[in-house]
Amino acid sequence: MSQHAERIVENVARVRQRIADAAQRAGRAADTVRLVAVTKYVGPDEIRALALAGCTDIGESRPQDLWRKVEQLSDVAIRWHLIGHLQRNKARRTLPRVSLIHSADSLRLLETLNELAVESARHVPVLLEVNISGDDTKGGFVPHEMASLLPRISELPHLEVCGLMTIASRTGGREQARRDFAKLRELRDDLRPECSPDVTLEELSMGMSDDFDIAIEEGATIIRVGSALFEGALT
Ligand SMILES: *Cc1c(COP(=O)(O)O)cnc(C)c1O
Repeated sequence: MSQHAERIVENVARVRQRIADAAQRAGRAADTVRLVAVTKYVGPDEIRALALAGCTDIGESRPQDLWRKVEQLSDVAIRWHLIGHLQRNKARRTLPRVSLIHSADSLRLLETLNELAVESARHVPVLLEVNISGDDTKGGFVPHEMASLLPRISELPHLEVCGLMTIASRTGGREQARRDFAKLRELRDDLRPECSPDVTLEELSMGMSDDFDIAIEEGATIIRVGSALFEGALT
């Protein structure tokens, strides 16, 4: 194994330990948290090293990068996640390649995904991205409009709306991140009683390299970690 690959394997072990510690503090089992390794900064060799270390949930933020890497790594068993904005004209090509779309951010996109799912006779698991911080550079649904949107989302029968996703505020540090994550959990808890059976909202995708431990304490079931996995492994 190359030195860089060894470093990645060590980083994975360190991140998994931090996941276990945070889960323990929260009184949760470590296996209730799924690690999605975010690979937008790296190429296929680093993704192979991640897979060797047992990280086979891989997240990309740009659809074109995801398509390319899926092709380059067709020999590796990977579950691909799209974590960034999906334009509707890229949905058709993206859909068959991913196991979960974290970043469904408009009703129109959900409608398009539902139509494509009907055509391909499959169910599509999605998370609804919520702009919990109100940061105008971020995409996502506005929290207070979600209750009125849920009935319309429930009418899209080929979507499995499994949960919510958010990115914490860029400013305000870890304490602000904790408030953002708690807000997403509370929003989910408020919406849940209104949901149809296809809208389970079980998953909370929140937490990145700087704050995933806090996100786990606040109820994250999926964390999206990039740079912490590649420290010392990039030239
Ligand atoms: C890049 C990215 C991440 C990972 O960020 P790191 O700080 O490198 O861990 C997580 N989620 C989204 C949506 C991203 O774009």
